[in-house]
This record gives sequence, structure tokens and C-alpha cells, in this order.
Amino acid sequence: MSSLSSTAADRLSPDDARAAFGDQLEFDTPLAPLTSYKTGGPARLFLRVTSAEEIVAAIATARRLEIPFFLVGGGSNLLVSDDGFDGIVIKIDVRGLTVTDDTHIEVGAGEDLMDLVRFAARNSLAGIEFLAGIWGSVGGAIYGNAGAFGCEIGSVVESVTIITPEGTVRTVDPEYCRFGYRDSYLKESKDVIVSARLRLEAGKREALEAKIDEITTTRDAKHPNTGCSAGCFFKNIPDERQPHGKLPAGKLLDEAGAKDLVVGGAKVFDKHANIIVNTGTATSSDIRRLADLMKAKVKATFGIELQEEVQQVGKF
Ligand SMILES: Cc1cc2nc3c(=O)[nH]c(=O)nc-3n(C[C@H](O)[C@H](O)[C@H](O)COP(=O)(O)OP(=O)(O)OC[C@H]3O[C@@H](n4cnc5c(N)ncnc54)[C@H](O)[C@@H]3O)c2cc1C
Repeated sequence: MSSLSSTAADRLSPDDARAAFGDQLEFDTPLAPLTSYKTGGPARLFLRVTSAEEIVAAIATARRLEIPFFLVGGGSNLLVSDDGFDGIVIKIDVRGLTVTDDTHIEVGAGEDLMDLVRFAARNSLAGIEFLAGIWGSVGGAIYGNAGAFGCEIGSVVESVTIITPEGTVRTVDPEYCRFGYRDSYLKESKDVIVSARLRLEAGKREALEAKIDEITTTRDAKHPNTGCSAGCFFKNIPDERQPHGKLPAGKLLDEAGAKDLVVGGAKVFDKHANIIVNTGTATSSDIRRLADLMKAKVKATFGIELQEEVQQVGKF
């Protein structure tokens, strides 16, 4: 029995749902194992899709049946409600990593970002080492223009193949994507990212692999090695006077005294005040309540309203 209220997804019988979405459809699938926080409830319906055609079909069916849908990549930037998601979660699992025209890589949205980084180095292609150690899928990285050390994935994107909300497969350029800080127009347009073509440059394999190892080691030392997180919870604040043009939210949180905050099994990471850690027993509502306390501290101290980088799924 689902504890969720009766909705379009709930009212569909399992047989009708499978007839509509196909035999791979799952019911009441736990989402916690699919997220880096390891919290949250189940998806009423769940479907793993591996091609543009499957995505088009799944979204068209969800729309026709008026079932809300949510896309999941690597789940490393998500906070899923403890009540789960009362619709269909579509896990983007489109694969493929190919070098084309000597210096370009075509990559499926479901590929792991770290696999892409290592693949580029193995093929002596430079320009994305800065992505080493960032969790998640290529699609999720493009959606949120993931980056580190002042560099962002959007800077190497030559084109992105998307599915528009109308169900059309299109290849669009970076101007269309309008990449910004942890942002892209794709958040607004609700397009689904299927694959991307990246423009890299020739490099030396050994040097690239050494750089990737160095970055990964540096990041490992700064990030929690026990407990689960979703990286930085809040976005940094645009400020031209700061290095990389951003005032770190972690600095504000630290100075506002957020580092000692704890709610249930969720706590602020002691080495970085913008990271919330699930110590093992946190619920998503512990994490949400802790995030609210952190926001309130910064608002009271600096008058600044922090904006979430982490995306919420379901009702809070
Ligand atoms: C330890 C740790 C460190 C991190 N460090 C960094 C960092 O340094 N820099 C940084 O930028 N981020 C960092 N993050 C956050 C996270 O890794 C990135 O935001 C990542 O790009 C999210 O990708 P994902 O596939 O996991 O997306 P998900 O968490 O699965 O989804 C995030 C959003 O993207 C959407 N989405 C996913 N795939 C698609 C698709 N194919 N088409 C359309 N929409 C899609 C989802 O609907 C959702 O809204 C870190 C996370 C962790 C756990």
C-alpha cells in the first residue's frame, strides 16, 4: 500500500500503468539509494530510459495521463521529500562516449561525469580536468552548469541534443543553453538533455591523468569522507570584487555561526559550512530544517537570502 494520496499515478492500476509505460515500469521504487544524500521516500512510478526514443515516449505518456514527472541523473544534487514523489521518476541512462574529429567528444547524458573526465584524459584530450571529483551524470552537470575552480562545463559545450517539452529532438548551441553560474536556460525550458558534443584540445595523457589525480586528492581532503552530502547546499553570491566573481556562501555561513548547527541526523560539515552531511540517520526533513536554520542565520547576520543549489523533489 502506498502512503501517498490518491493522484493520477495512484489511480492507474499496475496493469494499465505497465501497458502505458512498458514492462520496465517499476512501482514504489525507493529513491534514497539513487541519491547521494541517501534520504527520501519512494517514487510512485519509476522508469529507466536509455534512448531519446524512450524519453520521448515516457514523457508523452506522462503528459497524456497527466502524471507529474521528474528527471534523475546521478542524484547528487537532489533532496527527495520523505513522502517521496507522487508521479513518475524518469532515470536518464543514455550512454555513449566517442571521440570525433580528433578533439571532440560525444557523450550520452547518463554517463558518469568522472568516467567522461577519465575517458578524455585516456584519449589525450584536455579541457575538463577541473570536473574531476564532481559527482553525478553529464546531463545533470549540463543542466546546472557544474564546475569548480572558476571553470564550468558550459565553456566546453559545442552543442546539446535535447528533447523539447513538445517531444521534438533538437540539437542546440551554447547560445540557446545560456549557461550562467550553476544555471542554464535548460532549467527554465524544461528540455531533457539526451547527449552533448564537447570541444576539447590536444593534451598529454600522463600530464592530464596526474592533474586529475591531484584534483581528486585535493577535493577528497576538503569533502566529507564519512556521511553523505550533495556538495554545496547553497549557491555562492555574485560579487565582482571577489576571486572568481563570487562571495562564497560557506564563508557567510561560517561567519554567521552555522557550523555548529545540527538537526536530527543532519549536521553542517565541520570543514565547510556550506555542506550538509547526513551522518547516517538523517531524514530529508532534518536536512531541510537544518538548511532553513542556516539560511536564517545568514539573513539575520548579513541580510542576504541564500539560494539553494540543491534541487528539491516532491513536497516539503
Ligand atoms: C561530494 C559532492 C561534491 C560536489 N561538488 C560539486 C562541485 O564542485 N561543483 C558542482 O557544480 N557541483 C558539485 N556537486 C553537486 C553535483 O555533483 C552536481 O550538481 C551534478 O552536476 C549533478 O548531476 P546529477 O546527474 O547528479 O544530477 P541530479 O542530482 O540527478 O539532478 C539535478 C537536476 O538536474 C536535472 N537533470 C538531471 N539529468 C538531466 C537531463 N538529462 N536532462 C535534464 N535535466 C536533468 C534533474 O531533474 C535535477 O533537477 C557535488 C556533489 C557531491 C555529492
